[in-house]
Amino acid sequence: MQRITILGSTGSIGTSTLDVVARHPDKFQVVALTANSQADLLLRQCRQFKPRYAVLLDEDAAAQLRQRVREAGLSTEVLCGITALEQVATLPEADAVMAAIVGAAGLRPTLAAAHAGKKILLANKETLVMAGNVFMDAVRASGAVLLPVDSEHNAIFQALPRGYDGDLAGNGVRRILLTASGGPFRDTPLSELLNVTPEQACAHPNWVMGRKISVDSASMMNKGLEVIEAHWLFNAAADDIQVVVHPQSVIHSLVEYVDGSVLAQLGNPDMRTPIAYGLAYPERIDSGVAALDLFKVATLNFTAPDFERFPCLALAYQALRLAGTAPAILNAANEVAVAAFLDRQIAFPSIPRVIEAVLNSSQIGAVNSLDDVLDADAGARRAAQRQISKFSR
Ligand code: NAD
Ligand code: MG
Repeated sequence: MQRITILGSTGSIGTSTLDVVARHPDKFQVVALTANSQADLLLRQCRQFKPRYAVLLDEDAAAQLRQRVREAGLSTEVLCGITALEQVATLPEADAVMAAIVGAAGLRPTLAAAHAGKKILLANKETLVMAGNVFMDAVRASGAVLLPVDSEHNAIFQALPRGYDGDLAGNGVRRILLTASGGPFRDTPLSELLNVTPEQACAHPNWVMGRKISVDSASMMNKGLEVIEAHWLFNAAADDIQVVVHPQSVIHSLVEYVDGSVLAQLGNPDMRTPIAYGLAYPERIDSGVAALDLFKVATLNFTAPDFERFPCLALAYQALRLAGTAPAILNAANEVAVAAFLDRQIAFPSIPRVIEAVLNSSQIGAVNSLDDVLDADAGARRAAQRQISKFSR
């Protein structure tokens, strides 16, 4: 029996994780569930999965949930705040932690799970983008097991040799091919991008996801963050990672070897596949995902990314090459810009312009500790807010 904490259980990844868990009551037991402020859904999840702990970041929402949990006769203990998130990420009675909080908010609890040596199912890519070396050092020092849940990185993990040691060349790998759907604006005339709405940006052609990552997919910042994520997970340099636009989202990524072999992982675009892989690793379990119908897919297309259409992708490569605090600055500026776009304060094409201005005006420092990351994050958020007022419409 594997005991699991799910950070961000009310989100897209969180609910998909619980869907897989519910299919295997003999294998998994939920120890803790957490959310930002969604008390209703968290209560329903508590009724179904009977966790020992439930955490809400928001204090009022937590008080409300505590009352309702009591009324429902459940023994779940309701906690609140960021320290409670760290606490449930490090519980001695939890074997595994699904890290599925969105954005920089996921950093502290995910890092805490790494320090505690947990098996970590990593969906929160922002942790690696912001604090890659700090996080990977913590994983190595504690002996934590790190399993990528992001579909592309899960595919690469599956296509690399079992027990891959971080040496691409030593394992005969020429490069990593990171696939991208191109999002909802792959073919939108550039002149129309100025007027696209948050609703259009969040309507992804292949995946149903939270709003932040949906906007990131539309700008291709998601792929940029994933390039940085791949750098840390697989010890790959920027030049070792080629983005390939593949609109069908059937091939989730590929590994190219020196002998000419290219290994890919395919499947329907449904996050329950990489989630089930992470949950059961190294075994395989039913995820509820339908078998891939190759005859229905029929055609697979590939094109090179258009950096002019998607400046965010170029900015992410730039941040990776700048190294140090640059990726944390990129991430923070992106989170502020995406929130402003979702709030209809700035136009879609202003997202990369805000990020570029922040990246170019910030001092890039070394990352030796979590504080270096948090300082860079805070400074970049302030700088991004100033840019937002310039670009506001
Ligand atoms: P989501 O917005 O659907 O859910 C986010 C979860 O985090 C919710 O449970 C929410 O309550 C919680 N949360 C939000 N802000 C918080 C805060 N400040 N403190 C504590 N909890 C907070 O997001 P999602 O689409 O499930 O994505 C989660 C993570 O997984 C992201 O990092 C995303 O990049 C990554 N990811 C998602 C997908 C996908 O298909 N959705 C795919 C790959 C990677
Ligand atoms: Mg992905």
